[in-house]
Amino acid sequence: MNIRIGYGWDSHAFKPGVPLKIGGLAIEHTDGLAGHSDGDVLLHAITDALLGAVSAGDIGSFFPPGDPRWKNADSSIFLNVALEEIQHAGYRIVNVDTTLVLAAPKIGPIASDMRDRVADLLNLKPSDVGIKAKTPEGLNADHVAQAHAVVLLEKVEDPSELRSMADVVENQKQLEDVVKDLVSQVHGVEPRRIPVRHQPFDTEDIT
Ligand code: MG
Repeated sequence: MNIRIGYGWDSHAFKPGVPLKIGGLAIEHTDGLAGHSDGDVLLHAITDALLGAVSAGDIGSFFPPGDPRWKNADSSIFLNVALEEIQHAGYRIVNVDTTLVLAAPKIGPIASDMRDRVADLLNLKPSDVGIKAKTPEGLNADHVAQAHAVVLLEKVEDPSELRSMADVVENQKQLEDVVKDLVSQVHGVEPRRIPVRHQPFDTEDIT
């Protein structure tokens, strides 16, 4: 089988006076999303979808709760770790689809910008990224933002393409060293995959 699917979900509560960031996009709003990191609920869901697609654990297994390194961290760090994981497994993203569930702000007017930003972070064309939003009708959850994400991956058969993917990931962020350090820490303890796959996931998602 040369394709794999992944699914991710996340939620964060709104908090007054905090900058709002969704899909890597800074959004003007009275409230932001509370979290140990920048609270980017959409990037967290996509990160989990990517990790899940290659059975590499979840965001909490890479970024343990309470680790001071991730206080107010830019969630693109988490996304880059997930990109490295799928690349290491020999896959690339075919497309990503997402649904945000939140009462406010309205996502429609900024959905195109958000799609472009997420596509940029994932090195995809905007046409390979779906951004949808719904209000939480009947859920009594107006104080919370939720995000669902699904990803489709396909096996990369050409090794040179994998190398060029690595270059993109490495050039993408100035936080490259942090990411590499983290991945090597996760995989340096025991043979890769086994500790990640079998360690119990922490149910407290502080990211
Ligand atoms: Mg989260």
